[in-house]
Parts: sequence; structure tokens; C-alpha cells
Amino acid sequence: MTKIKNIGVLTSGGDSPGMNAAIRAVVRASLYYNIKVTGITRGYEGLIQADFTPMDGKSVGNIIQRGGTILKTARCDAFRTKEGRALAHKNLVESDIDALVVIGGDGTFTGADIFCKEYDFPIIGLPGTIDNDLVGTDFTIGYDTAINTVVHAVDKIRDTAESHDRLFIVEVMGRDSGLIALRSGIGVGAEAILIPEAQVGSEELVHRLETGRKDKASKIIIVAEGDEAGGAYVVGETLKEKFPNADIRISVLGHIQRGGKPSCMDRVLASRLGVAAVEALIAGKTDVMAGQVNKEIVFTPFSQTIKHIDAHDITPTWLKLVEILSM
Ligand code: ATP
Repeated sequence: MTKIKNIGVLTSGGDSPGMNAAIRAVVRASLYYNIKVTGITRGYEGLIQADFTPMDGKSVGNIIQRGGTILKTARCDAFRTKEGRALAHKNLVESDIDALVVIGGDGTFTGADIFCKEYDFPIIGLPGTIDNDLVGTDFTIGYDTAINTVVHAVDKIRDTAESHDRLFIVEVMGRDSGLIALRSGIGVGAEAILIPEAQVGSEELVHRLETGRKDKASKIIIVAEGDEAGGAYVVGETLKEKFPNADIRISVLGHIQRGGKPSCMDRVLASRLGVAAVEALIAGKTDVMAGQVNKEIVFTPFSQTIKHIDAHDITPTWLKLVEILSM
């Protein structure tokens, strides 16, 4: 096993609260083990542009509580090409960076997997995404903060909905995964939750509203942006047609779900996984994501972390729970 001397750290894909806590942990753990650490700006774009900055303990001071990422993040099409990755590798070699910690979601891990295999380059991933759509960790860094942001926002919407006897359709993030919608929907006591995995659809929703309790002053329907019903505005049109006398309003929460101070859960998860990533590189691990399952640190090959949402958290039991609670 060759000794790692300089770890590069980057954040990639969509930002998530807790990425800064993860960067801090990677930097401090590297320094603890006498390894240099280099910050790479704007994800894989920074690899290709050789946008590298040496980091020390102070450069990550006072960031654990901050949302976003001090290293910035980006989507980088050039890294999808062989030429782009060759340039990234050349830049790493020239700067004596001999291992990477990449913090991001499934796209980031797909790129890391290809790069690891192409260049036999050691990489550990940290799950940094609000979507919680990765296998190999109970929760991703940012998910807890995001669902709490949704819950706080919808609690406020509930106040006005209750005062005016309104039905609100609230759209939350989740293009391919309904995990934000599912948990936050349960947390706010939603009357219905529409998620891509459940395929409830507008017809079923109309049926549920027609047959459901009539004495509720307010109703909240949570829709994941990727739901096949077509998002909050489309669902709103269907419901307005079917219930012309109902006072129906739409609220799309949008990017507030990505921002804000990370919750303590996210800070602790990011800190723990950041240290685990550095220790894993020292131990010779590569091509894996560090995650936490049942309180234990586990390492899952990148290829197995991606797109297994059905096997993850959305089980019939959860969906039944939603149905029972909406009575
Ligand atoms: P989020 O879950 O928040 O969207 P993500 O990591 O999935 O985060 P993506 O934009 O899908 O975000 O991916 C981040 C970057 O990973 C891309 O901009 C690209 O540089 C790289 N990447 C994604 N897929 C591939 C691929 N097939 N080959 C090489 N690189 C890739």
C-alpha cells in the first residue's frame, strides 16, 4: 500500500446543507494524520481547470454551521468525456494530489467510479444530496435539514390554510425520488402525498378527496416535483375542475429547500463520514461511498449506491402509514 500524501476534496452536483461540515471534517482529519489537503473549486470543473487551493485547519474555521459549500459546486459536462478526465488526471498528478474525497450525489459517484477505474486513482465518496436517494447510507448529508425546512414552511402554510378553509398543493424537490415528500408529508400531517414511486395519480387523489372526511378545515397535499401527476400546477388544474367550489392554492417551495444552516443531525453525520473517508483512504479503500447504516459506518461500491431507490426507503409499509394517518 502506498502512503497517501495529499488528499483533494471537492463538492459536486447540487449543493446540500452539511457539505461544509463534511469539508471541514476531511480537512481536519487529513491534518490530524499528517496528510496535506487541497481544496478543489467547483467540483469536477475545478479538476479540469486545476483550480486548487491548499487548505489548513483555519481555512475551515467557522463553517460547520453554514449552508452551501465554501468550495462551490458545479455540473461539469467535460468530465463526462475521456479528454476531460485525462486533463483532470494530468492536473492531479502535476499537483501531487494522490487521492480524492468527492462529496455529491449519484452523478458525482458515477463520474468518480469511471475515473477510479480508468486511472486506478483512489477516491472515497460522501453522500451529499438533499434527496436521500443513495443506497449504502440510511440518510444522506442534507436530507434532514431539507425535510425540516419543508416542515417549517408547510406549518406556516397550514396556519393560513386553516384560517381560510383552503386546500394547498405544496410542491417539494425530488425529480426522481419522493423521499423528501414522503417524510416531510408525514411530518406535516399531509392529507395526501404524491411521489413518483407510488403512482397514486390524479384520479386516485380525486377519489381520496371525494371519499375522505368532509369536516377538515384545511387540506395539504404534498407533491414531489417528479411525480407522474405532473407537479403542483397540473394537479391544481385537475382538482379545480373536479372541485370548482374549493379554495385551492399552489405553493412551490423551490430552492429554499437546499439552503440554510444544517441541522445538528446533518453536521454530525457529515463530521463522522468526513473522518471515515480519510481513514478509509489511509487504509487503502477506494471506489466506495462512506455511509452510515444502523449507526455503523459502511462502505458501498459506487456502482451499487446509484439508482436503487425502490430498494431503499419507499416501502408499502410507509405508504400504508400515509393512508392510515390521512383518515
Ligand atoms: P444531486 O443528486 O444533488 O443532483 P449529483 O452528484 O447527482 O447531485 P449531477 O449533476 O448528476 O449531480 O452530477 C455531478 C457531476 O458528476 C456532473 O456534472 C458530471 O461532471 C459528473 N458526472 C455525472 N454523470 C457522469 C458520467 N456518466 N460520467 C462522468 N461524469 C459524470
